[in-house]
Amino acid sequence: MKILIVEDEAHTGEYLKQGLREAGYYAELARNGVDGLHEATEVEYDLVILDVMLPGIDGWSVLNSLKRKKRQLPVLFLTARDSVEDRVKGLELGADDYLVKPFSFSELLARIKTILRRGNQIQEATSLQVADLTLDLVRRRATRAGRRVDLTAKEFGLLELFIRRRGEVLPRTLIASLVWDINFDSDSNVIDVAIRRLRAKIDDGFDVKLLQTVRGMGYVLDEPEQ
Ligand code: CA
Repeated sequence: MKILIVEDEAHTGEYLKQGLREAGYYAELARNGVDGLHEATEVEYDLVILDVMLPGIDGWSVLNSLKRKKRQLPVLFLTARDSVEDRVKGLELGADDYLVKPFSFSELLARIKTILRRGNQIQEATSLQVADLTLDLVRRRATRAGRRVDLTAKEFGLLELFIRRRGEVLPRTLIASLVWDINFDSDSNVIDVAIRRLRAKIDDGFDVKLLQTVRGMGYVLDEPEQ
């Protein structure tokens, strides 16, 4: 697996390159947006780790150009601020995930693994499945144990997000920005209400509950271990 790091801060860049190599990846470092865009376009990489704050062409422009040239190439962007605006902007431009600086190296590795695994699945996937729950991405239909589950467009989007990120606890803020395209207002219960409805539709009447609340953190969808 080949990973390109685009990062102008020498210390961070070298640290990432070294760490990724030790973790068994082939890693290269580009020190500015121009070189990063050129390298990512000319060479076949499996993933790009892209810093947003870069001199010259910033990370947003690199991401924008890159996604137009190589739509399938996964990009994980690094942002210095934990702001909803940054996350939404990056994800709208086509980034696959983001990390807020400072982050731990183990967190980075976990994200990389998830993105690479997801990338391999997405290439041919026309449906997604967790346990006996199936999402038909072409017909936009959900079934559980072979029975049709009627979902609104929003609920379908929400369920798709949960299945694509199965096993990951998704905070309300992330769900809000990805599915509702809104800044999350902590006084609002719109997300909890929607998830309660979705859960009733997919889990009520079944012994195995797939959608779980993680108190104080968010929600996770997965097949519980027996
Ligand atoms: Ca930087």
